[in-house]
Amino acid sequence: MSAGPADPVVPPPAAEPITVEQLQEKVLGTVRPLPEHPLPLMDALGLALAEDVVSPIDLPRFDNSAMDGYAVVHRDVATATGEAPVHLPVVGEIGAGQARIRVLSEGTAVKIMTGAPVPAGADTVVPYEWTDRGEASVRITQAPEPAQHVRPRGDDVSSGDLLVERGTVLGPRHLGLLAAVGRDRVRCRQRPRVVVLSTGSELRDAGSELGHDSIYDGNSYLLAASARAAGAIAYRVGIVPDDPTTFTEALHDQLVRADVVVTSGGVSMGDFDVVKEALAPLDTMWFGPVAMQPGKPQGFGTVGEDAVPVFTLPGNPVSAYISFETFVVPALRRMMGLLPEVRPTVPARLTHAVTSPPGRRQLLRGSYDESHGAASVSPVGGAGSHLVGNLAVADSLIVVPEATTSLAAGETVQVVRLDVPF
Ligand code: AMP
Ligand code: MG
Repeated sequence: MSAGPADPVVPPPAAEPITVEQLQEKVLGTVRPLPEHPLPLMDALGLALAEDVVSPIDLPRFDNSAMDGYAVVHRDVATATGEAPVHLPVVGEIGAGQARIRVLSEGTAVKIMTGAPVPAGADTVVPYEWTDRGEASVRITQAPEPAQHVRPRGDDVSSGDLLVERGTVLGPRHLGLLAAVGRDRVRCRQRPRVVVLSTGSELRDAGSELGHDSIYDGNSYLLAASARAAGAIAYRVGIVPDDPTTFTEALHDQLVRADVVVTSGGVSMGDFDVVKEALAPLDTMWFGPVAMQPGKPQGFGTVGEDAVPVFTLPGNPVSAYISFETFVVPALRRMMGLLPEVRPTVPARLTHAVTSPPGRRQLLRGSYDESHGAASVSPVGGAGSHLVGNLAVADSLIVVPEATTSLAAGETVQVVRLDVPF
C-alpha cells in the first residue's frame, strides 16, 4: 500500500535500547591491545608489564656493611670485653663507593661505612658503638657474633630470580626494584592516545569571554582528565561548532594521532546533532539508545583507514562522564592490557530512599563511606545530568538495576567507586 497525500507523516520507529553490557561487549569486541614497546621506567608507571623480568644481578651485589664501624676477622675479636679489650691496627677506610681496600689481613681492622663492600678476608663488622672510634688503632670492647653486621651478597635477590611477573601493573615499588637491578626500560603496552573533541556552537573555552547564550566547555577537561586518570595520553582538542563539515574535517585531522577519539554532544534528537549527522551514514558506526540513565544516547564504531575507535558521548556533562567511565575506560584498559576491564562494584548500605525509571539502569551520584565499619552510600544531589556541582562532590555511582523502580533506605546496593584504582 502506498502512502497517499492524506496520510500523516509517521516517524521511523524508535530503536530498541541495548543494555549497558551489550554496548560494552561491542566495544571490547572492537578494540585491540596496543603494541608492546620497551619504555623508560618512569613512563611505565601504572602500565601492565609485558615481560617477565628476571634479575641480571645479585642484591646486595657484594657483602656489605650494615653499620658504620670496623671490618675485622671474627677470630681476632672473639674475646673482646670491656675488661679485656682487643686492640687492632686500622689500615684504612672504606666509604660507600670508595672501596680502595679490597683485602684485609688477619690481625688488622679497616674502617667501613654502611653499604660499603666488606673486603675479602674480613667476615664481621664491629659497630662504632663498641669501639673508641680510633683512627690509627682501634680499641674493641664487645665481641660481635661471627658475620654480624654484614649483609651477604644475594641475600635479598639472586641473579636469575623472577622479580616482576608479566601482567603486573607497575607501581612505585616495582619501579624501584627494576632500577635497583639496573633495568632502565621495560616492555609494556604503550598508552593509548585519546583525542577529545567537544561539539556545540554554544561552547566557549574556559578563560575566554561568554556571550549571552554561550557556556563554558567543561566536558573536554572532564573527559581528557578522565582519560589521563585511566592511564592514557589525552589530547584535548577543544571545541568544534555544530557544523557537520567542520566536525568531519576536525575529526579526520585528528585521526593520525589518535588510538581513540571521544566526542561529546550532538548525538540526541535535536535539530543540530552534528556528530550523528556526520557519522551515522558510516556503516562502521552504531548509534542508538542504551538502557541507562544518564547516558541514553550513545554512538560507537570506527572511523578512517586505520579503523580508529570513536566514542560519541552525550553532551550533558554528567552523562558524558558516566558514559566515559562505563564504556571508554574498559576500552582503554583493554588497549593497555589491564584487567579487569570493567570496574568491579562493591556492596554498600543505601542511606536514603531513591526512585528510578523502569527499564533503565540508573547510575546515581553517591558519596561512599566506610569510616564507621560497614560500607554505606548516600545519594548526592538529584538525577539531572546537568548537575556538575554535585558531580564534583560525588565519589561513586549507585547502581539501580533496570527492573528496580525504588529502593528504601537501608537496602544493599552495588556501588562503583570512581577514584579507587582497580
Ligand atoms: P547536546 O547533546 O549537544 O544537545 O548537549 C546536551 C547538553 O549538554 C546541552 O545543554 C549542551 O549545552 C550541554 N553540553 C554539550 N557539550 C558540553 C560541553 N562540552 N560542556 C558543557 N556542557 C555541554
Ligand atoms: Mg550540542
